Amino acid sequence: MERYNDKLKSCTLCPRKCGADRLAGKSGFCHAGAKARIARAALHMWEEPPVSGKNGSGTVFFSGCNLQCCFCQNYEISEFCKGFELTSEELADTFLMLQDKGAHNINLVTAAPYVPVILEALDIAGDRLTIPIVYNSGGYESLETLEMLRGKVDIFLPDLKYYSPQLSAEYSGAADYFDKASRALIKMWELAGPPVFDENGMLRRGVIVRHLVLPNCRHDSAKLVGWLADSFTPQEILVSLMSQYVPMHKAMDIKALSRRTSTFEYNYICNMVSACGFDGYFQQRGSAEEKYVPEFYDKKYY
Ligand code: SF4
Repeated sequence: MERYNDKLKSCTLCPRKCGADRLAGKSGFCHAGAKARIARAALHMWEEPPVSGKNGSGTVFFSGCNLQCCFCQNYEISEFCKGFELTSEELADTFLMLQDKGAHNINLVTAAPYVPVILEALDIAGDRLTIPIVYNSGGYESLETLEMLRGKVDIFLPDLKYYSPQLSAEYSGAADYFDKASRALIKMWELAGPPVFDENGMLRRGVIVRHLVLPNCRHDSAKLVGWLADSFTPQEILVSLMSQYVPMHKAMDIKALSRRTSTFEYNYICNMVSACGFDGYFQQRGSAEEKYVPEFYDKKYY
């Protein structure tokens, strides 16, 4: 089970390439240490319908993040790393516990810094884990780390946040976001292929590209939709447009982000996605509420 650990010695798991020696107790930009650290493991109903289904998605929220988005709703865990540590065995047991509860899939949220320990846990769970594995990501991923997931992950759920380097630098501290996320998305598609649904309409394989429409950013969003249309046919990916932006955390201090996305802005992008022929999911405007932020824990509670 030590075979993945060398990746943590001088960490280059994500495009930050911090080189932090996480095995020696150091942490890099994302705050992740050597062990898995999570803040919640529960059935979650708020993903796209073919991921949540009627029982819920078996969501595991990992602590820390390689992006630091100023508007992050989950900043308690992404920035302040709230959570509790698990061994690889305990993480495997957590996956199996969620499966026993009826989860349609195991949904790994913001998992890039923990890919080596996740692979260990998946090895431990082995054939006992039979539901699809979902990799739920901010999109800022390295191709080498994604390659490690070949044959392990069935569904990719990446964000595609920004086209403009200025916006991604200002709002998420990553000027190279689009360069890295666009390559990552193509790699994810290579690993998962086009959408495959089971007889109940649940997603078994594929890529759902998520985009949160931000206030005052519709022209940037439009460039992303244009890139998707140039890069994928409508049969190859699903698109999920989210309207749930609520100003919070550091975004309260940034004028352009201090209001919700308008109906005009959201519909403008929805119409573009539809005109490009993409199938997907459009969030109800009324769902832009803080109630979508789940409860996070700093001690193991299950
Ligand atoms: S995963 Fe974390 S420690 Fe590793 S390179 Fe990325 S930000 Fe740095």
